[in-house]
Amino acid sequence: MIPMQLGTILVFYVSVPLLITALLALLYNARSQHRPSREKESIYECEKCGSIYAFARNRPMDRCPRCGHLNDAVRT
Ligand SMILES: [Zn+2]
Repeated sequence: MIPMQLGTILVFYVSVPLLITALLALLYNARSQHRPSREKESIYECEKCGSIYAFARNRPMDRCPRCGHLNDAVRT
C-alpha cells in the first residue's frame, strides 16, 4: 500500500506546481494582450507651438490639442 501512496504523493507534488505555473503563464499572457494599445499610439510634435502629444489612433496626421495646427506623426 505504501508504494501506491508514494506514487500518488509524487504525482500530486509534480502536477500541482505545474498547474500553478501553467495558470501563471496564462495570466501573464492575458495581461500582455492588453498592452499593445500603448504601442499603437502615434507621437506628434507640433511645428507651430512645439507641443508634444500622443494619440492612440493610427493616423498619419493629427491636430495639436493646444493650437489646432495639423502635424505629421513623428513615430507611429
Ligand atoms: Zn500646437
